[in-house]
Amino acid sequence: MRLSIDISRCIGCGLCEETLPGVVVTGMLTARVVNPEIPAYLAETARELVEYCPAEALSIEKDAT
Ligand code: SF4
Repeated sequence: MRLSIDISRCIGCGLCEETLPGVVVTGMLTARVVNPEIPAYLAETARELVEYCPAEALSIEKDAT
């Protein structure tokens, strides 16, 4: 499972860094994914984060396997 951010939509609110520290870093204007592989124990948290992102900028890609 991999997390990605559409930076053209992101408003830099900081929610994803707060929720998944070490996976996402929030910059001045937008967030960026620094460690896209989501460990299994954070999978549900990541799915909820996608729903709660106020800009609908987050998406999850499932692993091919
Ligand atoms: S939660 Fe959404 S809008 Fe907020 S920083 Fe993360 S990607 Fe950007």
